[in-house]
Amino acid sequence: MATFFATLPKTLALTLVSGSQSKPNPKKASSMQGQKPTPRKPRKASYGASRKSILKKSFNQEQVMFTAPLSDDPAVAIIGGGMAGLSCALYLEKRGVRSTVFDTGVHGLGGRMGTRMIDPQSLIFDHAAQFFTVGDPRFAQLVDGWLEKGLVQQWQGMIGELEVGGQFVPLPSLPPRYIGVNGMRPLADSILSQTTMVNVVRPCWISKLDPFNGMWHLSENGKPHGQYDAIVIAHNGKCANRLLASSGLPLVARQMKKLELSSIWALLAAFEDPLPIPFEGAFVKGVDSISWMANNTKKLLHSLSSGPHCWTFFSTAAFGKRNKVPQENIPSVTAEKVKEAMLAGVETALGHSAGSLNRPFYTRVQLWGAALPTNTPGIPCIFDPHGRAGICGDWLMGSSLEAASLSGMALANHIADYFQSGGARPDEFAVGLHNEFHPLEGHDIGQFPGLGSKEQMDEAQAYQLST
Ligand SMILES: Cc1cc2nc3c(=O)[nH]c(=O)nc-3n(C[C@H](O)[C@H](O)[C@H](O)COP(=O)(O)OP(=O)(O)OC[C@H]3O[C@@H](n4cnc5c(N)ncnc54)[C@H](O)[C@@H]3O)c2cc1C
Repeated sequence: MATFFATLPKTLALTLVSGSQSKPNPKKASSMQGQKPTPRKPRKASYGASRKSILKKSFNQEQVMFTAPLSDDPAVAIIGGGMAGLSCALYLEKRGVRSTVFDTGVHGLGGRMGTRMIDPQSLIFDHAAQFFTVGDPRFAQLVDGWLEKGLVQQWQGMIGELEVGGQFVPLPSLPPRYIGVNGMRPLADSILSQTTMVNVVRPCWISKLDPFNGMWHLSENGKPHGQYDAIVIAHNGKCANRLLASSGLPLVARQMKKLELSSIWALLAAFEDPLPIPFEGAFVKGVDSISWMANNTKKLLHSLSSGPHCWTFFSTAAFGKRNKVPQENIPSVTAEKVKEAMLAGVETALGHSAGSLNRPFYTRVQLWGAALPTNTPGIPCIFDPHGRAGICGDWLMGSSLEAASLSGMALANHIADYFQSGGARPDEFAVGLHNEFHPLEGHDIGQFPGLGSKEQMDEAQAYQLST
């Protein structure tokens, strides 16, 4: 069978079939053959597509069936340069497979492991991922490399749980907690610095995936971005649903549509004077507007006295949901309301009276509209061998940097195995296309393997912060 297809010109080696069935559709297939995906007139992205119309498109689209032999030196397009996409690129390279990572990031790669530096005041904030723990030996290997290069270090500062009113329970120092020495974002670049076969295209928003002549053709609002033997979707949320809605991958699109995501507000605030708070980070309990607070100046710069004091505050998912607006265009009234509610929440959490805390001289609010997954299929990755398309991301196994990295590694190895097989036995490589989802437990800002088990917390000493 493989020899037969191998002799076909690539133009004949792609068919499309309806829904999840694998029956060829000659009408559609012939309409695809020999036609180059014509570059469209650049159009403004349609942000108005309703959930219903995306759903309808996702489920009614026809399945791409690649039957062309793979290229001699196959290349993969990875759409998304967060922890999952970059880990996938790194592990593809370890298996000798070339890839190109496309990412929208204007300031850099990294996605939700972002660090914001603001000059001239020298402010620094990790504005999504704050720290991580390590549970899996494969992730431990990556982290060991970062430790050796001085890119990460253990966070020795006190962190714990803060109950409304100021009762603080420190977390035991084990398992170790890690932070990026200069914030989280440089870790993204460091993954790439270990590679020689990975291209990066940034900032770039891939808006269309076209199967043609046995290859995936990528484009950004009509501008072509090359052709690839396989694609990896390493992002989620509305953007991924739109991209998959008409790509010829109904099974992949259906799995992505099952994902549910929380929304979280971030408040970055810089104070002239240190806040009267003895800890560096706390998961906050019992306050609607705050779920996490961390002193980024102490965490990243170890600064104790002089200079501005930068704090990152995150809302709860419930508060995020209630106050959700388009994240690209936050009305100033909402920004002001959210800021005040979160600053008031900090006072409530600490047990301070309203208005008693110093006012910050710098603030910025940001909405993570697709912050963290709240359900998961619990499998490392998804792969559709007929469509030569895979998905990796934190949500496949959890909600953490570690989960994202492990998912990227797993998909890379799976694709490399598939390439090694020559693509001749596709059904053996189908994974995760029908798994059911189940709810995901964890903090509002994700999971930290091994941290704060019930036994550890029972042993820990709670104390009341002085007010
Ligand atoms: C507020 C907050 C706090 C968190 N705190 C922690 C923490 O302390 N510890 C922890 O371990 N985890 C934390 N997390 C979770 C952690 O950040 C994520 O699990 C992890 O970063 C996810 O990585 P990813 O690669 O799966 O996705 P992402 O990081 O989201 O990467 C996806 C990338 O794809 C890009 N992209 C999207 N669409 C396109 C397109 N069409 N074309 C090109 N590029 C595209 C995006 O811009 C993004 O860069 C936190 C998350 C949030 C939101």
